[in-house]
Amino acid sequence: MQLDDLKIFLIIIDVLIVAFIIYRVYLLLRRTRAIQLLIGFGLILLLDLLAERLSFETLSWLIKSVSSYLVFGIIVLLQPELRRMVIEIGNMRLFRWLQPPRSVPLTEICEAVKIMAQERIGSIIVILRDIRAQSIIDSAVKLDSLISRELLLTVFHKDTALHDGAVVIEANRIVAASCYLPLSSARILKKTYGARHRAAMGISEETDAIVIVTSEETGKIALLVNGEMKTPVKHMELQPTIARLLKAEEKEITAILRGERT
Ligand code: ATP
Ligand code: MG
Repeated sequence: MQLDDLKIFLIIIDVLIVAFIIYRVYLLLRRTRAIQLLIGFGLILLLDLLAERLSFETLSWLIKSVSSYLVFGIIVLLQPELRRMVIEIGNMRLFRWLQPPRSVPLTEICEAVKIMAQERIGSIIVILRDIRAQSIIDSAVKLDSLISRELLLTVFHKDTALHDGAVVIEANRIVAASCYLPLSSARILKKTYGARHRAAMGISEETDAIVIVTSEETGKIALLVNGEMKTPVKHMELQPTIARLLKAEEKEITAILRGERT
């Protein structure tokens, strides 16, 4: 290989690495307020470039004088996202082979959901995927326990101290219970849905989690992903649908939830 060829090859590798990093950062931040901040910041940079090209000296001066404060401000504002990003890097698929595979025990979860629906016990179960809802877990009651239908039924039993709020599951463990979720303001939620369904919708909008709700009022099961809700879901179809959702690519999710063939 000639020296020039080698140089071009290294440049391609360089660009590919940067593109990969930008893509990963985008995937991590896409559902958070961080992306809006970063877009805003990008626009300011663009304006700065433009001001320099057109020799708008006052505008250029203004942008330059505030930009260092802006960088500092963004770091402070995005501290939770940045922390999550560092954790996510360790969790990336690239490094997953270092950790033993752990799968979600769907049978246990779906059995518990079926019983809760029949007995009209209200519940929210959040199955996390790539995005970790760290701030929600931090402010809840941490459990870190293996999943069993008995434990889920016990947690959501109305006489327990943990029954209010959601249970968060990551792979084969219940990470936390009594989790307070962000409420969605989605208009598509009719007035008939209360706080439980709004909370489930909220977390499904902000993360890529799969959320199962049982209604105390109606005994219906609802399944929420990507800010979309399907209800009622028959308990027979719950487990196969979640299994497909867990394996699905982002673009297939809506079709699976709606029960369309993919
Ligand atoms: P249901 O069909 O079961 O009645 P709903 O959608 O009508 O549900 P509410 O009746 O308002 O909702 O349910 C209240 C319960 O929802 C609370 O007792 C609590 O357990 C849960 N809940 C309310 N807000 C949140 C929240 N932000 N995060 C997690 N759980 C919540
Ligand atoms: Mg209600």
